[in-house]
Amino acid sequence: MNKPANPLAEALAASLKKFDEVVAEVITPAAGDVDADGSYPRAAFDALGRHGLLGLISSAEVGGLGLSHRAAALAVEKVAQGCTSTAMVLCMHYCATAVIEAFGSIEVRRAIAAGNHVSTLAFSETGSRSHFWAPVGTAAAVEGAIRLDGKKSMITSAGEADSYVWSSRPAAAEGASTLWLVPADAAGLTVVGKFEGLGLRGNASSPITADNVRVADSDRLGADGGGFDIMMGTVVPYFNLMTAAVSLGNMEAALGKAIAHVSATRFEHLGQSIADLPTVRAYLGRARIKVDMVRTLLMDTLDAVEQGRPDTMLRLLEVKAAAAETGTEVTDLAMRVCGGAAFRKSHGVERHFRDARAATVMAPTADVLYDFIGKAVCGMPVFG
Ligand SMILES: Cc1cc2nc3c(=O)[nH]c(=O)nc-3n(C[C@H](O)[C@H](O)[C@H](O)COP(=O)(O)OP(=O)(O)OC[C@H]3O[C@@H](n4cnc5c(N)ncnc54)[C@H](O)[C@@H]3O)c2cc1C
Repeated sequence: MNKPANPLAEALAASLKKFDEVVAEVITPAAGDVDADGSYPRAAFDALGRHGLLGLISSAEVGGLGLSHRAAALAVEKVAQGCTSTAMVLCMHYCATAVIEAFGSIEVRRAIAAGNHVSTLAFSETGSRSHFWAPVGTAAAVEGAIRLDGKKSMITSAGEADSYVWSSRPAAAEGASTLWLVPADAAGLTVVGKFEGLGLRGNASSPITADNVRVADSDRLGADGGGFDIMMGTVVPYFNLMTAAVSLGNMEAALGKAIAHVSATRFEHLGQSIADLPTVRAYLGRARIKVDMVRTLLMDTLDAVEQGRPDTMLRLLEVKAAAAETGTEVTDLAMRVCGGAAFRKSHGVERHFRDARAATVMAPTADVLYDFIGKAVCGMPVFG
């Protein structure tokens, strides 16, 4: 039998085809109810697990598909076109998977690859808020174990995931943080209330407190005090690419619905559609340019990551801010051209408008990114 010319490209194409199926059959049909009820997209995750897609970036060694940043970004964009909540939950699962793949136990890595384990990042705290790199919660060696205490402010998949990639102050070392894998059923871990968000309503992004939670020292992910380097080296590339892709999928869906609406809706007394109005067409033209600019920047950032280009970190900071801000603009334009019709939830565009708002405030927030990018272009240390 002939060997495939490019096995990774073939694996990517095959995985994306499976995503198309799950998005069409399971994710898109459920999106309205996920939003209306604020329900966690469990059926989507069961389907993704069955198709091996929760192990998209898990290595072949543990039974995963062995793919990387490009696959994750393209996949979550497809999912976001169907349901932005589901896409963000998947984004957080892949971010946690990247850390677990690098530093976690073989058992958890195998469980993720087999589709039996969903994880997420538990970084943001009530104390340090959106400055996710600076946890104030603690870790302390006690009685042969590690005691964790802390107040996490908004954790996607809270009470739904099987584990949390949890940040704390270091137990003993210098440094900003240490990461731990905390099982979701650990005693002392409490999910505080149901998430009732403006958008991304299926995310289950509730607060979680840790009160005398005990984990083993072997549950540490990387070195004590090494959390910041893992966040910047492992998490930021995946997170920034994927949140940009989620924003992109969400704005593509909103624009597509807006174009369908203005093309199909008529002024009967004039014998014209809304699309016959030059003002409306110009709004759509502007929106199309904005979406294509984000897509182009995302593709260039993926190239930068894969080629190890010197501007990789700058691009990663830029792409999240650009996609988040453009997402709010494009969904605003989509609402505008659909007129009063878009105020009805059944119309579908307003869900994308609400969902788009999360990306600008999810850390690193757009305003923090502008400051980081400003430092970079002025030749100052970005994270100093
Ligand atoms: C839907 C959703 C899901 C989330 N899921 C997760 C998750 O899974 N895991 C997780 O760890 N976190 C998660 N978060 C939390 C998120 O990453 C942020 O930490 C959180 O939204 C920040 O909110 P805050 O009120 O604490 O912001 P604040 O820190 O209070 O910010 C308030 C304002 O100050 C601005 N600001 C702050 N610092 C600066 C600065 N240096 N320069 C300029 N402006 C600044 C911000 O941009 C913002 O406009 C989620 C958030 C949302 C909305």
